[in-house]
Amino acid sequence: MSRFLKKQYESLEPYTPGEQPKVDNLIKLNTNENPYGPSPRVLKAINQAQVSKLMLYPDPEAAELVSAIAEYYGLDREQVMVGNGSDEVLAFSFMAFQNEESKFYFPEISYGFYKVYADIFQTRANPVPLTEGLRVNPEDYKNLDGTIIIANPNAPTGIALELEEIEGILESNRSNLVIIDEAYIDFGAKSCVPFLQKYDNLLIVQTFSKSRSLAGSRVGFALGSKALIEDLNRIKFSFNPYNLNRLSILAAKEAVRDDAYFQETRKKIINTRRSFTEKLEALGFTVLPSSANFVFAKSGQLSGKEYFTGLRKKNIIVRHFEKEPISDFVRITIGRDEDMEALLEATRELLERKAK
Ligand SMILES: *Cc1c(COP(=O)(O)O)cnc(C)c1O
Repeated sequence: MSRFLKKQYESLEPYTPGEQPKVDNLIKLNTNENPYGPSPRVLKAINQAQVSKLMLYPDPEAAELVSAIAEYYGLDREQVMVGNGSDEVLAFSFMAFQNEESKFYFPEISYGFYKVYADIFQTRANPVPLTEGLRVNPEDYKNLDGTIIIANPNAPTGIALELEEIEGILESNRSNLVIIDEAYIDFGAKSCVPFLQKYDNLLIVQTFSKSRSLAGSRVGFALGSKALIEDLNRIKFSFNPYNLNRLSILAAKEAVRDDAYFQETRKKIINTRRSFTEKLEALGFTVLPSSANFVFAKSGQLSGKEYFTGLRKKNIIVRHFEKEPISDFVRITIGRDEDMEALLEATRELLERKAK
């Protein structure tokens, strides 16, 4: 720490990203990346001619991408804002809508960035504990006095809320902004997009990182009322107007237009999740009901740390959070069928060794 750092950042605890190891032959199931590559249309679009245009700035409006997203969701272009990953969209939301006096409610066990953003943007974080079975209890979010953010499905549990439950939260918080982070929505839960017609206090945040296989491209977006989107663009154009690079704009535009590939790959992941869950349960694991591209599971025999470390030694990497009440769980990204079979085989070996 230098002597120049602002006082307010001295106690800041940055977000810890999942490991991105530099070794080969690793089965990487720790950061919820999509095991299937981007759409073939993306590969075609990022060609030499496009790379040779990199001396030019990108379109600061990312108009073609914004239009493609708006068309996909049946919204007006003025209801869509794009960012450098949904992380940036979330950051802009904090900049636009939170200050030192405002309160900010989110599930205590959820995406780690919410707390980090609350700290860096100096708003009053009010983590709400999960209830029975590590669930978000919608009643806990009714009639609050601040901004609410809920990941649906939640991370790292994978458990989704019903649309009626979210509507209850929107309805009872008409004077509060409610942000629904739909990073994993395409893997089985229902999106709140239809609520945008009725609720001007709803902001939906989504990403191309998971269901559209573009984590490396860093593209996220927000959907909301024209007024909310205008506010977010006010921040974007005051901070980093060229927040999406030329190649990412192209990649994301092609990804959203290739619906056939999107449907095919997300269905594969949902099917793999179903069969993998059954097999893991047969090995004595508790697996939370997931609507995401990962499962949150705990063994009856191995502690979360033992299981994580055992798999790591076998070149399989999952995510473990050393905190209560989830330290006995690991989060396992759904990869290809063969990745999951390798993990199951490694799990059997670890359980046998433990039993000896
Ligand atoms: C992965 C993830 C994000 C961030 O996605 P990027 O678009 O890659 O920044 C946001 N929210 C949740 C809940 C996530 O899991």
